[in-house]
Amino acid sequence: MAIQIKNLAQLKSMRKAGLLVRETLDLVKENIKPGITTSALDAIAEANIRRGGGKSNFKGYHGFTGTICTSINEEIVHGIPSDRMIMPGDLVSIDCGAIIEGWHGDAAFSVIVDPIDSTDQKMLDVCEASMWRGIAAGKCGGKLTDMSYAIEQYIISQGKYGILREYGGHGIGSEMHQEPHILNFGKAGNGPEIMIGMALAIEPMITRGTDKTKVLSDDWTVVTTDKSRGAHFENSFAILPDGKPFVLTAHDGGKAKLSALGVEISSLLS
Ligand code: MG
Ligand code: MG
Repeated sequence: MAIQIKNLAQLKSMRKAGLLVRETLDLVKENIKPGITTSALDAIAEANIRRGGGKSNFKGYHGFTGTICTSINEEIVHGIPSDRMIMPGDLVSIDCGAIIEGWHGDAAFSVIVDPIDSTDQKMLDVCEASMWRGIAAGKCGGKLTDMSYAIEQYIISQGKYGILREYGGHGIGSEMHQEPHILNFGKAGNGPEIMIGMALAIEPMITRGTDKTKVLSDDWTVVTTDKSRGAHFENSFAILPDGKPFVLTAHDGGKAKLSALGVEISSLLS
C-alpha cells in the first residue's frame, strides 16, 4: 500500500489532534504520583480528549479498553489501565492518541516517580534524545531508514541498551497506524523516499537489558523477558509543503529540539 500523502488542510487537522494528544499527556503526567491508579489516569485522559473535541483512537482499537496505554517498569508498551496503583520509584510510560476531524495524533513519554534511579533516568533521557535525532534525520528527499540509523547510532553511542526489534514507528494520518513501518535500528539510505505530505510517528523503545519481549496473557502488555525496565518516547511529525518538518505533537512544533540539531521547522502550521 502506498504511503498516504496529506495536503496542508489535512495536516492542519492533524496538528489539532497532535496538540490535543500533547495537552492530554501533560495533564496525565501532572497526575502521576504514588497512590493513583492507572485507570484513574485513563479517566483523566478520556475526559480531556472529549473536552478538546476529540475522540480516542486507542479505545476499541482491536478491542483495547483504555484511552491511554499505561506501562510500568518491565512493561514497555501497551499496558492496559487497571486498578494498579502507581508506587514510589515506578517507571511509568504513557502512550496516547486522539482523532480530530478524522485525523489522528499519537505520542508517548516515560517518567519516573520519586525516588528516581539515576541509571533509569539516563535511559529515559537517551530514549527521548534518540527520538529527536530520528526526527531530525527525517529530511525531505532522504530515505526512511535514515531515521532508523540516526536513532540506533545515538542510542549505541550512549551505552548498552536493548532496542526493541518487534515494535517501531509508523505512518499516521486518517488511521493511527499506516505504512510505512519504521524500525528503530538499521542501515541508512533504504526504504521509501521521505516526501512532502508524509506524516510519521517516531517511537524508540529501549531497555536496560534485553531487546527480547513477550506479550502477557492479557494479550496486550509487552514486557521484557529479563524483567529489565524500559523507556518509550513518541512524537508524530510531518513534512510540510515547504519541505520542512513540523512536529505535530509538540507544543512548539519541535522548534527548540530540532533547531539544536540544526534543523529548521516549517512555519506553515504556526
Ligand atoms: Mg503511540
Ligand atoms: Mg505510535
